[in-house]
Amino acid sequence: MMKIIFLTLIALSVSCTCFSQTQTNTYSLVLENASVVNVTTGKIAYKRLIAISGDTIKAIDDTKKVKQYKADRYIDLSGKYVMPGLWDMHVHFRGGDGLIQANKDLLPLFLSYGITTVRECGGDMTPSVMNWRKQITEGTLAGPRIFTSGPKIDGPKSTWAGSLEVETPEQVTKALDSLQKINVDFVKIYESKISGQTFLDIITQAENRGLTTSGHMPYSVKLKDAVERGLDASEHLYYIFKACSSKEDSITNAIIQSENTARPIGLFAALPSIYNTYDAKTADRLFRYLGKRKFSLVPTLFISKTLNAIKETDHSADKLLPYIDSKLQATYAGRVNSAKRASDESTAFSKKYALKASSLIPQMQRRGINIMAGSDCGAYNSYVYPGESLHEELKLLVASGLTPAQALQSATINGARFMGVNEFYGSLARGKSSDLIVLDTNPLNNIQAIDQINMVISNGKAYNRLELDKLLNSIKR
Ligand SMILES: [Zn+2]
Repeated sequence: MMKIIFLTLIALSVSCTCFSQTQTNTYSLVLENASVVNVTTGKIAYKRLIAISGDTIKAIDDTKKVKQYKADRYIDLSGKYVMPGLWDMHVHFRGGDGLIQANKDLLPLFLSYGITTVRECGGDMTPSVMNWRKQITEGTLAGPRIFTSGPKIDGPKSTWAGSLEVETPEQVTKALDSLQKINVDFVKIYESKISGQTFLDIITQAENRGLTTSGHMPYSVKLKDAVERGLDASEHLYYIFKACSSKEDSITNAIIQSENTARPIGLFAALPSIYNTYDAKTADRLFRYLGKRKFSLVPTLFISKTLNAIKETDHSADKLLPYIDSKLQATYAGRVNSAKRASDESTAFSKKYALKASSLIPQMQRRGINIMAGSDCGAYNSYVYPGESLHEELKLLVASGLTPAQALQSATINGARFMGVNEFYGSLARGKSSDLIVLDTNPLNNIQAIDQINMVISNGKAYNRLELDKLLNSIKR
């Protein structure tokens, strides 16, 4: 449904282009002398002007022709770099009714870090999220555009509050009915308590309805079986990494055998044997297969790094902590305590695994897998602050071996492609969205450039640095 609305908007905005140029020649905003970053080609076009009307770019032209572009407002961007607004492809709004305002207060944080779109991957306050999204689109609330899965689908007695719990095919049908009724943008499947059969059934039924699916995955399922049925994306690296093992079959069988015993083998118990049987040829075959299928992957490197380092990190002076509601901060305790309880041995293994799994990302990219940057920020996910965490994710993607341009693609056009709206979002061109960010230095030379945000245009409204700081101050405790 959202896609239909988006496509209608695209059609309207494209068809208006000629009219506004020839008839009135008036734009709401003209950016002059901009260095425009093309994240797809990794090239820069210098001395450009960008003429904007509302939420749409009406023209990109030589700055010398600025006299031909009558606008309400001109901004000189000499020496600055312009690129599409950033997309965080994995965030959460959650924590129960008592945290609705605390979650809403995260919206300005995203915007001030140049995140103009987020993909929410399951939460427990969907009516509020739908409401914010409406207000943001209407321009009455400052925040990123929101794509949402609504509640997660999981098995009985699921880990996350608000999940739709299913066991039988009929319950799957009902759950998907309820998600379609509220017009979610994709289906997020979780694996805390779900059987392999039910997991695959969700994918099959969702595929039959033309819905996009993404998930965690029970280790009793093989990734290829899920992808063959239509799974579109994998969150985190665990599931793809498992399928890189030369012993995937026997490991999966052992997990299935253990399911109804006193000691079922969970994800973390299976990981060392998967790590030890990693096979380069199996991995390459898998990546080619996934690439051909245009499969998407959200590696979420930064949250792993943060959790793996919790024991030795003092977060009490984090500069963004004062921007997080204390009730939301209180939800951090669970992950902090479990990370602290982990033995030094298991923490050391987690670090070793994270390094190995992330080192595969450039090869996945080469084989055509659609890599999407996502932070996993939100309640419970300790010290992964909205906005900043996506910047850190991009730096880690570059550290893993992606070029800065590829990392920027993962946070712009790749997300728009996954959501089926890349005709309008994720790149800068005539007829496309004016959601963009202005940087002080060239992000293609050094990814750290994304930390120096000079201006954000979101939904047709331009925020300079002063205005972004004002937004931030409005949520400072
Ligand atoms: Zn998550």
